[in-house]
Amino acid sequence: MRSETIYENGPRRWIAMGRDPNKPDSIIDTNEFLILDGDSGILLDPGGVKIFPKVLAELTRYVAPESICTIALSHQDPDIGSSLALWLDLCPNTEVYCSWLWSGFITHFGMGKEIELQAIPDEGMVIPFGRSSIQAIPAHYCHASGNFSSYDSEAKILFSGDIGSALLPDAQAGLVVKDFQQHIRFMEGFHKRWMPSTSALRDWVQRARTLRPDMICPQHGAIFQGEDVTRFLDWLESLEVGAWGK
Ligand code: FE
Repeated sequence: MRSETIYENGPRRWIAMGRDPNKPDSIIDTNEFLILDGDSGILLDPGGVKIFPKVLAELTRYVAPESICTIALSHQDPDIGSSLALWLDLCPNTEVYCSWLWSGFITHFGMGKEIELQAIPDEGMVIPFGRSSIQAIPAHYCHASGNFSSYDSEAKILFSGDIGSALLPDAQAGLVVKDFQQHIRFMEGFHKRWMPSTSALRDWVQRARTLRPDMICPQHGAIFQGEDVTRFLDWLESLEVGAWGK
């Protein structure tokens, strides 16, 4: 597993972990994002139970695990949060945020332990961590029916969850998108199959444009930055999804 600082400002630091060249082919590659503010941190989509040891090893290069005071899940999938019980073993006071819709489902990741969740209402909310916060932005039906992106207004980074995801071959698995036109073929199939609603995607694009992010960071694949942010939003707005078999 690799990790890189994607933005830095005083005591705050934004870190992307993932793109593991040694992971088994049987599991999908994922990005885990860590935001640090001094000695407190938030972990976005901490990942599946299978990659937990690698994420933990990478995270401890930057901060002690007990500094993670907040975990936010974009949705309920196992590659997003099946590691939750293991994280809560290490940092039992961590607050875990997820859509209210999935609270009763995500608690099944508890491995025999009670997991207490903070339910995010459909309209989103401000999620605090340490002296900082991020904003949960509605992304329902993109792809889960209760789904949130996270926006950090200081860094102008939109953590988009599965939106913008790409299935990249190892040779293309760089941190940042280099050639948008070439990148389309790695994300088109993903969106057509995993995204159920064209109108929901277009609503999300409108919300994303209002935020004017400098960077969009998906949970699989590479980061969009600079002019590729607009290229990506334009591409997504014109995409038709949710029509299997037609
Ligand atoms: Fe998912």
